[in-house]
Amino acid sequence: MQTVLFTSTIFGPIHSRRLGTSLGVNLMPNDGKICSFDCLYCEAGYNAQGPGTTGVPKRETVKKLLKHKLEEMKAAGQKLDVITFSGNGEPTLHPQFKEIVHDVISLRDQHYPEAKVTVLSNATMAGKPSVIAALKLVDNNVLKLDSAVAHTLRLINRPTSPNVLPAGIIEDLKAFNGKCIVQTMMVRGEHDGVIIDNTTDAEIDALINAYLAIAPQEIMLYTIDRKTPEEKLVKVPVDDLKRIARHIEAKTGIYVQVTA
Ligand code: SF4
Repeated sequence: MQTVLFTSTIFGPIHSRRLGTSLGVNLMPNDGKICSFDCLYCEAGYNAQGPGTTGVPKRETVKKLLKHKLEEMKAAGQKLDVITFSGNGEPTLHPQFKEIVHDVISLRDQHYPEAKVTVLSNATMAGKPSVIAALKLVDNNVLKLDSAVAHTLRLINRPTSPNVLPAGIIEDLKAFNGKCIVQTMMVRGEHDGVIIDNTTDAEIDALINAYLAIAPQEIMLYTIDRKTPEEKLVKVPVDDLKRIARHIEAKTGIYVQVTA
């Protein structure tokens, strides 16, 4: 089975399909995964691999490593579009997430003021006051909503808590008053004999209602790109993604970015 993707706290820069030249900040362990979801498509593998032994990095360590990397990149004349919180799990689970966001913004301002700060989050902590405060500070507050249908979300994202349901996530996302980007992974396939497809008309209608309620600044639709832990998942063809995107735009008036 696929295991952790990132073996360091600061990784890259890498070229991101959606974000450009991106320097990654992994607030989860370097040798394990911690997430409040356990998505069938997670590039970091399933949660079953365990949290590893390194623990989460300390705030001071993140700051020191990022400062060093940014100075090194600047000295080498490297370009940087974005500093992205992602990695081996859910970044907002870090107990000092808010403080680290402050540090990262301050380092960005000093070294690459033109670069954006992006958080890729699964939105399960988007109701926690300190997380809300931090997410409101970043340039790109990207929050996941793969399905507005409870059984589909539970099938694809497999939340570790039984209390995580689309209705609650949608309520939390509404509270950002539009200062968020909703990202939706479009996926088809099968898991344990159950068909998975969040691209059906009923699924898209439910997502449209959710997008209308949340009113994000943008919607990102994408599909799987690499090997996934559930090997019976398939990429949604780009023509289907574009057709779905046009339909969502027509119904909501919200810009939909497609990454295939
Ligand atoms: S939310 Fe992200 S990190 Fe967590 S399991 Fe899903 S894809 Fe992986």
